[in-house]
Amino acid sequence: MARSLDDLLAEGVTGRRVLLRADLNVPLDGQTITDDGRIRASLPTLQALREAGARVLVAAHLGRPKGAPDPRYSLAPVAARLGELLDAEVPLAADVAGDDARARAAALGDGDVLLLENVRFEAAETSKDDAERGELADRLAALADVYVDDAFGAVHRRHASVYDVARRLPHAAGRLVAAERDVLTRLTTDPARPYVVVLGGSKVSDKLGVIEALLPRVDRLLVGGGMCFTFLAAQGHGVGTSLLEADQVDTCRRLLAEAGDRIVLPVDVVVAPEFSADAPTTTVGVDAIPGDQMGLDVGPRTVELFGRELGGARTVFWNGPMGVFELAPFQAGTRGVAEAVAAVDGLSVVGGGDSAAAVRQLGLDEAAYGHISTGGGASLEFLEGRELPGLAVLED
Ligand code: ADP
Ligand code: MG
Repeated sequence: MARSLDDLLAEGVTGRRVLLRADLNVPLDGQTITDDGRIRASLPTLQALREAGARVLVAAHLGRPKGAPDPRYSLAPVAARLGELLDAEVPLAADVAGDDARARAAALGDGDVLLLENVRFEAAETSKDDAERGELADRLAALADVYVDDAFGAVHRRHASVYDVARRLPHAAGRLVAAERDVLTRLTTDPARPYVVVLGGSKVSDKLGVIEALLPRVDRLLVGGGMCFTFLAAQGHGVGTSLLEADQVDTCRRLLAEAGDRIVLPVDVVVAPEFSADAPTTTVGVDAIPGDQMGLDVGPRTVELFGRELGGARTVFWNGPMGVFELAPFQAGTRGVAEAVAAVDGLSVVGGGDSAAAVRQLGLDEAAYGHISTGGGASLEFLEGRELPGLAVLED
């Protein structure tokens, strides 16, 4: 078991410089943070370290800059929001692990927080080359005495600030990483039954790994979102202009043949002639999708059907919106399923960046869920049973 934050605090961190890898990869509209959920999820570990008198250097990434400084991906808005939430000054270093970061790290006082600039401004962060990542990890490690990983959303990445740096410093798992690991372990080890998984989102191909891994273990797999159309096509339905992955139809057909009794597909969908909030919408049965229209949400009979399946569940994992919830006319399916998941009498876990954002954007009560995972890809890979480099490295 990885060393916990409490183990580290018990050793004493007063005056020690702690490099904290956090997941602060929030959605931005220009310079405005549209959902600060990940920043808030990083606070418990950060606060605990500050209160214990650590000098905290936070490393994080934002978006996908091309391995060089790019003002569009500066962590400046994040530093400002973090400062508000902590009610403290959170200066932003001008670089990741260069002269400015070094000078500011040296000047930190007990309980102070410094945010390093976007780690992906360094091409080495995501490099496949061990030596390149190692060189950046050396510079990061030189800034601190201890490493704490709390960036659950990045633990599936063999990146310098996630993996290599942990091999260079004494390390511990932050509270968020530990909580994610524990709750996802409950989903993979002897879940209370019935165990129902709801999958949606855009692409089947993104989620085939998790579907294959979960199907033998679940009592029901409810499929909505854009990916349901490839399954519906595999059943022989016309899906009009809906999202369809033609190269996955055979795979879906095989899955239906193997586990069709456990896979539940929509019975009705909301269609529109185009992907737009102003397009006229119609609700149709899945056997009557017009050839020139696209399915952008599941329909009310499907919400009812999925609600019945969820009503009896004792363990639920939900990943992927049921429809294009970003557009008001196609929100009802996601809202209905989100409400049914919230009402589950047992463990309910929401995974996936867009799903978590949907819960908040639709104004649903986050506290009604057992756990809302901050990591989309990471939580899916964990459930697939893959080894996650960022977790494995904390074990030794
Ligand atoms: P998560 O981040 O929760 O894992 P995904 O990234 O897989 O979810 O998918 C989220 C996206 O799927 C959303 O942007 C949503 O608009 C889209 N989506 C859901 N249903 C449909 C649909 N019927 N057609 C096209 N896109 C869809
Ligand atoms: Mg997503």
